[in-house]
Amino acid sequence: MSDAQPLRRARFIKSAHELIHLPPDSGREVAICGRSNAGKSSAINAICDQGKLARTSKTPGRTQQLVYFEVAPERHLVDLPGYGYAKVPLALREHWQGVLEGFFMHRQALCGLIVVMDIRHPMKEFDQQMLAFAAARGLPGHVLLTKADKISRGAQAKTLLAVRRELGQRIGAQLFSATDGTGLDEARLVLRGWLGV
Ligand code: GDP
Repeated sequence: MSDAQPLRRARFIKSAHELIHLPPDSGREVAICGRSNAGKSSAINAICDQGKLARTSKTPGRTQQLVYFEVAPERHLVDLPGYGYAKVPLALREHWQGVLEGFFMHRQALCGLIVVMDIRHPMKEFDQQMLAFAAARGLPGHVLLTKADKISRGAQAKTLLAVRRELGQRIGAQLFSATDGTGLDEARLVLRGWLGV
């Protein structure tokens, strides 16, 4: 139903370590975040139908920067840094927490947040924090429960229901798998709707 066409044109434009290095704050952008290893890069690659758009890596916590992809003029997808491994030092976590909080508070172009969660480990502290930042600004949120292919249909349905209950009415949640394509259309619809592409 929702084809990938506009998203297929997504291209990397820049990455920034600090908020002052972000592109001009105009147009519309959707942020996508997730804990390290949740499957965020794979989700971005699958949604945009481009194998190497976002780097997938088994090395956790490698990138600590906001990565901008242009989908159309003034329409961006922003890959936010994730963490979630004990080996990331506390000071670095706190630094990134501050950067992300500032981003959510002040970025006018930001119009929605997608949170990627490993369906086997949903709604961790990082995920809840990011959703709370978005809610504080009144931004819509949407959760991708990824790696759905790793658990049974029954377990998928059970987790989806539990997560939806926890999220309440205002934030959507869906099953997703970059490996077998589960939920691709639904995720693209949300993204394209928010970006208006
Ligand atoms: P990121 O750190 O959140 O960007 O995670 P990656 O996209 O690099 O994925 C982490 C690991 O999970 C990699 O080994 C991926 O191949 C694997 N992975 C990601 N998405 C899926 C999925 O939908 N299904 C399965 N089975 N593995 C996945």
